[in-house]
This record gives sequence, C-alpha cells and structure tokens, in this order.
Amino acid sequence: MRPSILYPLFSPIDSLKGIGAKYQKLIKNLCGPKVIDILFHLPYNVVDRTYTSPLSNAINNKIWTGVVTITEHIPPQTKKHPYRVYCTDGTKELVLIFFKVYKDSIEKNYPIGEKRAISGKIEYFNGMWQMTHPDFVLPESRLKDILCLEPVYPLTSGITNKMMTKLIKDSLNRVPSFSEWQDVGSQYDLEYISFNDAIKRIHSPKNIEDLLPNSILRKRLAYDELLSNQLALALIRQRVKAKKGRSFVGDNSLYQKVVSSLPFSLTNAQISALDEISQDQKTPYKMLRLLQGDVGSGKTVVALLSMLKVIENGVQTALMAPTEILAKQHYETILDLCKNTDLKVELLTGKLRPKQKREIYEALKNGKINILIGTHALFTEQVEFKDLGYVVIDEQHRFGVNQRLALSKKGSLCDVLVMTATPIPRSLLLTAYGDMDYSKIAELPKGRKPSKTVVMNVNKLPSVIDALKRKLEEGTRAYWVCPLVEESDKSDLAAATERFEMLKNHFGDKVGLIHGKMKESEKDVVMEEFKQGKKTLLVATTVIEVGVNVPEATIMIIEHAERFGLAQLHQLRGRIKRGFDEGVCMLLYSYPISNISKERLNIMKQTEDGFFIAEKDLELRGGGEILGTRQSGFANFKLADMSYHQNLLLKARDDVINILKTDPKLESKRGTALKTLLYLFEQDEAVKTYLAG
Ligand code: ADP
Ligand code: MG
Repeated sequence: MRPSILYPLFSPIDSLKGIGAKYQKLIKNLCGPKVIDILFHLPYNVVDRTYTSPLSNAINNKIWTGVVTITEHIPPQTKKHPYRVYCTDGTKELVLIFFKVYKDSIEKNYPIGEKRAISGKIEYFNGMWQMTHPDFVLPESRLKDILCLEPVYPLTSGITNKMMTKLIKDSLNRVPSFSEWQDVGSQYDLEYISFNDAIKRIHSPKNIEDLLPNSILRKRLAYDELLSNQLALALIRQRVKAKKGRSFVGDNSLYQKVVSSLPFSLTNAQISALDEISQDQKTPYKMLRLLQGDVGSGKTVVALLSMLKVIENGVQTALMAPTEILAKQHYETILDLCKNTDLKVELLTGKLRPKQKREIYEALKNGKINILIGTHALFTEQVEFKDLGYVVIDEQHRFGVNQRLALSKKGSLCDVLVMTATPIPRSLLLTAYGDMDYSKIAELPKGRKPSKTVVMNVNKLPSVIDALKRKLEEGTRAYWVCPLVEESDKSDLAAATERFEMLKNHFGDKVGLIHGKMKESEKDVVMEEFKQGKKTLLVATTVIEVGVNVPEATIMIIEHAERFGLAQLHQLRGRIKRGFDEGVCMLLYSYPISNISKERLNIMKQTEDGFFIAEKDLELRGGGEILGTRQSGFANFKLADMSYHQNLLLKARDDVINILKTDPKLESKRGTALKTLLYLFEQDEAVKTYLAG
C-alpha cells in the first residue's frame, strides 16, 4: 500500500546508525518510532561556531572555535574543585575547566603536548581565558567539521545534541527523490523550493531566520503537511457525499408534540441549526455534520428534536456521550422532554446488571426502543439495532477522527451528528473537521445571567476562602479546580488531594474530591452528593464533566489558571453559567507568569464569547495546546504551526478543491505524487477509505 520509495523513511529508528539500544527508547519518546519522525524533528535554534580568532584578541562570552596545544593538567585537590587543563593557541593561554570528571577520560581526550580542535563558550576571568566543558574536542584535522552553524534540537535528558545531529544526518540520507506534488505553476505562489531541499536546508540552517515560521523552508514543509491534511479530509468527504444514505422525511407529529411542550421557545440559532440538519436528513445521502455551540447554548434540545424527525420514519436513533455521568444526564433531560409522548428511551451503561442489559439488547433488536443513550459501549458487538438510522455523538473532540471513521463504517447508512461545546477556531475546524459540514449555535438562550471573572494571585488564597465561606453558608455551591497536567502526573494529583485536605480544615465534610484516577462509579457518587447538596464544595481535577448541570453551583475557583488553554477555561466557566445566580469565576495564577499568560487570562475577564476566545487563544498559544492535542485527536501538526500558517491552510484547501475537480481519483502525474504525499504524512486511513471507494 505505502509506496516503496517511502520504506526507508518508515523503517524503525533502530535501523539508523549511531543509536545504541540504550537510547532507542528515549529517542522514541522524544521523536517517535520511525525514521520519518526523526526527519520531522526540527531544530529550534542555531549555535554559531564559525567564530575563530587568535585568543589574544578574542571576544568575551562568545562561542570560540580553534586549535590549541595542551600544555598541562591540574587535577583537583578536593572533590569540589574542578579539573583544569591548560592549553595555548600560541598567542594566549586558555584553561579548560571540568567538574566531576574522570582523570582517565581527560587524559585520553586532552593528551599533553598534542593539538586539539575545540569549541565552546569562552570567558575572560582573573586575567585568563577559560572554557568550561568544551562542546567539542576533536583531532586538529577535523577543525572544519566544527566551524559551522550547528542546529539545536529539542532534547530529552540522556540525548545530546550531537547524537541528535548524527541521527538527523543519517535520516536525511534516506530521503528519496520525490516527484513534485505541488502545482508549482498556479496555486503555488510561494517562493519555490523543493521538499527535498527544504528538509535538508532546515536541518543545516544558515541563520535563525531559516527556522522561523515564515522562512521559505518552513513554509514549504508546512504547506506540504497542510495539503496532505486537507486532501485526506476532502477524500473522505468526497466518499461520504457520494455514499447513498437514507432520506428521512417525517410527518412532524412527534416534533410538534415535543416543541409545543417545551417550557421555552427555541432560539433563532437553534432553529437554523435544526433547518440545516433536516435538509441533510431529507437528502438521500449520508449526513456527517458538526454542531458547534457554547456550553448552555441548547444543543441537547436540538439533538432530540432532530432525532424525532428520524423516529417519525419508524427508525431508531442513538445518542453517545463521552462519560456515564453525561449519558445519564442526557437520559434524564430527554426523558423529561419526551414525557408527553410514548417514546421508549433507554440508558445503556456499564453499570447495568447483566439481566437489564439483556433486556435492552432484546428490546433494541425488536425495534421497541426509539432512543438509546449511552457511552461508546453503545457500539460494542452485542448491541444490535433493528434499524438504526441516526447517531448523535456528544463532545466529539474526545473521540477523535479515527473513531469517527470507525463509527461511520459501522452504521454505514447512518446519519451522524457530532456535537461539541469547544468553540473551535475556523482554521482548526478545517484541519480537524474538514470532512464534515457544520452548524453553529452562536447565541445563548435569552435571560442567561452573565458571569463575572476575576484574575488574581494565588497568594490571595486566604481572602478567597473567607469569601467562599460566606457564600457557602448562604447555600451556594462551588467548584475548586486544580489542574492535572498529565493524566499520569502523580504530583498534581497530590496537589489536588492536598488542597482537598486543606479545604476540609475550613469546611469540614462539606468538601468533596473528584479526580481522573477514580472509577466511574466513585465519580458518580461524588457528583450525586454535590448535586444534592450533601457536598457544597467540589475539589476537582479537570475531570469535572463538561456538561454536568448543577444550578446551585455558581462559583468556580481555578488554580494555576495560567496552565489551561483559554478554550478550556471557558468551558469550565460555562458550568457556573447555568445557575440561579450570577456566576463568579476566580482565576488564580502563580508566579512566575509571563506577559502572554497575563494577557491570556485578561481575555477571560473581557469576554464570554467562546468563539472569540478560541481565536485569541490560537493566536497566543498555537493550535495544539488549545485543544489538548494528545487527547483530542485533533490534527497534530509537526511542521505547520496554526498560529502562523493559517493562510497556507486556506491556500491548501483551495488547492485541494481544484485537484479533486480535475483529478478526483488522483491518477494524473501530479495525482500520483500527491498519493505519495498522503503516505508521507501518514494519512493512510484516508487513502484506504479513498481506495476502497
Ligand atoms: P448544551 O448541551 O449546549 O451545553 P443544553 O442543551 O444542556 O446546552 O441546554 C442548557 C439549558 O438550557 C438546559 O437546561 C435547556 O433546557 C435550556 N435551554 C435550551 N434551549 C433553550 C432555549 N431556547 N431557551 C431557554 N432555555 C433553553
Ligand atoms: Mg451538552
């Protein structure tokens, strides 16, 4: 499947020269398991080692490179003292300083009376030039190898820049000569450089400018990556669009019944989203649509109403939520909204007893259940619908593109609506959901109370606790969020636990704790206690569920707010906007905090517009971090940077439209090259899907 010219790049890194077994694991964690991952591990800086001059007129604090003769060794008197090696270039003396080294290795590397080419930072100290731990020491004949600009790579402990440079060199040797996949004539109006030249040159930068996002090298590579991303999504989209689906035209009976019993009227944004969805439902093609709307914008009602139109056709529907808590909440909401109908709504979760599960499976197979709600357990083998026509997926960003593909394979004729409460900037939408149509609910129901956000130093904690005490006594409930940087990061969990203990000293057994290491069922218990008011202060790592609805909870305190993405803060804050009272969100930061971080937090103070916040966050932080790339399944670019390359993305999208217009099966010369591009950036799934079609 993968073109054979790519094999050398996709072989494992242990096939590279100069990497011992000991380091393979470290490199794998740092870059990835394949040669291509090394190749795409770009330098972020350059060290200039071209400076050489007689030591008699050298410049202080600069990297100096030159040839010296070793004259004397002075081993340390005590362990605290450094090992000193004296040498000279004929004009001046230089002393090399080493801490914690073995005598043997120094004697081997710096033999007295011999010449060595060395490089490192020199400093003038007590009337003498000195260099602490030279970066390079080589035989005199290899001076020219050092006299260059040295790329500096992101490293991990145990891996040196020299090792990295060696690996890069070997992986560059494996880059085959590609046929050009860019249309150099028309769309490609960037200054031209081939992929091969760009990747070679970026690994031997001539200056720091070569490495910046707007260098022609970076732009070429970024454009290639974005083009592959857009092409892959367009291929999937092309296939979905061509696929026969089912046309659902209901008689509006159920729809009317439920709409007329709603205790509110739909917002215009909800109505137009419903219109767009029902257009899709009517066409005989498969629907794949993203519904975006801020927390509290009323997506659940929209989902239900759109399901009713399908059920009116005698077809079953399913709603999938990312967690059991959310599934249960959807179930309760939907059950309530459907109380005037005789629809059968069921909740399928892991907690059900085997007998209950069997009953649900049975009813499902017989077509007795109209709406099935649950987690992704809904799509295990045993779950068999009589006739499933429509799936709604809530909070999709936790599922990811590949799961989406898997799902659309399962119910091949199924319409799919994906709902997300993360406002996604337009460019990221294109890179992550470019295969879907999308609707947006950019309006909150009337009468929502605005919330107030304050930003303050964590050293104000005592006064925060005092204020909190008063509010809790008045019957308010509050969230206290401690960030968990890494799921596995024990120290952060420890921080949350510690905070929990400390708050217990103030508030007694009214404090609850919920975190990611707890079992679903344990989380449920705590959430339930908080809902019912047995606990009034809930200390949480970020696992507190996105959609969980506790109207009494109107205060949120977020520690280390500077560690969160703005979109994430916005989502957290959304939880206190559903309340009976005006919400208050306190963002606590800890020193040191950068100006950008301050600016970011201030944006939270200024606006509650999630879409605006998301765009700003992208500008200030870059795409990966906004959405927490690793968990989200969002396109994780190696070469492109969405805070700089948005225009390239739009260009790539236009380019793709043209490509598929003239060469929908990628059969032309350029088309063939583009297939290679897809494989180069590991869009295998898209190629497979495309080939299958
Ligand atoms: P989301 O899932 O988008 O975060 P929900 O669907 O949970 O939002 O809706 C939040 C709350 O707003 C629910 O209590 C819901 O009943 C209510 N709601 C939904 N639509 C409207 C509307 N048009 N007017 C008033 N309240 C609404
Ligand atoms: Mg929701």
